[in-house]
Amino acid sequence: MTRYLGVADLQRMVAEIGTPTMLADITHFIRDDFLRWQSFQKSARTANHSPGGVIELMPASDETFFAFKYVNGHPRNPLQQLPTVMAFGVLAEVATGYPLLLSELTITTALRTAATSVLAARHLARADSRCMALIGNGAQSEFQAIAFMDALGIREIRAYDVDRSATDKLLANLAPYIRSGRLQVIATESVREALAGADIVTTLTADKSRATILTPDMIVAGMHLNAVGGDCPGKTELDARILQQAKVVVEFEPQTRIEGELQQLPADFPVVELWQILQGLENGRIRADEITVFDSVGFALEDLSALRYLHQRASAMDIGRQLEIVPRLLDPKDLYGYALGKAASPAIAH
Ligand code: NAD
Repeated sequence: MTRYLGVADLQRMVAEIGTPTMLADITHFIRDDFLRWQSFQKSARTANHSPGGVIELMPASDETFFAFKYVNGHPRNPLQQLPTVMAFGVLAEVATGYPLLLSELTITTALRTAATSVLAARHLARADSRCMALIGNGAQSEFQAIAFMDALGIREIRAYDVDRSATDKLLANLAPYIRSGRLQVIATESVREALAGADIVTTLTADKSRATILTPDMIVAGMHLNAVGGDCPGKTELDARILQQAKVVVEFEPQTRIEGELQQLPADFPVVELWQILQGLENGRIRADEITVFDSVGFALEDLSALRYLHQRASAMDIGRQLEIVPRLLDPKDLYGYALGKAASPAIAH
């Protein structure tokens, strides 16, 4: 049978495990898989574009697991009470193709994106970073704030969004951390004000346009930019001149050249893939005054890692329910008989 994890199941896992622990666990799973980068079959995702957004399919596999994610990006969705990004996915056994897990991935995408951001920032941000500007305070923002607070020692968030109610929501959701003294969150009136004194800048805006949220005059030596919102052709956040003076790190170069901030630069602009740094083949930050950019677009392997984690934890916690989405046949060749109502095989171990 296939385990099904719906949104309510993810809510239960977040409540019982805790957001910081889930973020740390998923970071661990992603790191483990990036350390085995060469074991995976990888490809850039397929994307179907429309004027209002994009719908994408993201596959990856190794010798044991195959995974895919369905995900959209529709920046105007919140006007219709829908999230900008919605996702679900499957983890399957490579040996037979049997689907082991069908899961919501909307909450999980926010967790795995923040986890990947901190994994990159550990190697790219200055170790003494304490203040992060957070530009775009929508659905992903709390996950990034908590991940950077917990894993990187960020103590001050300087938040900005064109929609002040999004910043108010961020402040309300982070209230437990603010009350306990772990985090200070300051709502600012402009991008420039948010960046004043920031060691790390996370951009999380959603707008299907060639935006320049950050311009070179806002950037100071030693900053690390965690650029998450530019993740689709024609959708960027950084002025290209910032990239030209920075060390740019990507997830999977063939995909980021099409979708990332990198789409603004010539095809031979040098980049480093994150796995190369994790495996010790390339340097992360080498100087305190260097400007570093993690040009994040979201890669299928991160979803495979997150699905592996969900499968392991949900099985251990006995969360979710069993679905029969593929038939179990007494005679595997008698699909027609099964379609007419013959009994299923009770003997399949899945
Ligand atoms: P969201 O729609 O919930 O939030 C986006 C926020 O950006 C909104 O509150 C909006 O008001 C704000 N915004 C738009 N333009 C702005 C501007 N010029 N200045 C300041 N704020 C502005 O979206 P979300 O789910 O939080 O996702 C944020 C972005 O991250 C999206 O573009 C999404 O596609 C991207 N994303 C990337 C990854 C990845 O792996 N790289 C994963 C998930 C989401």
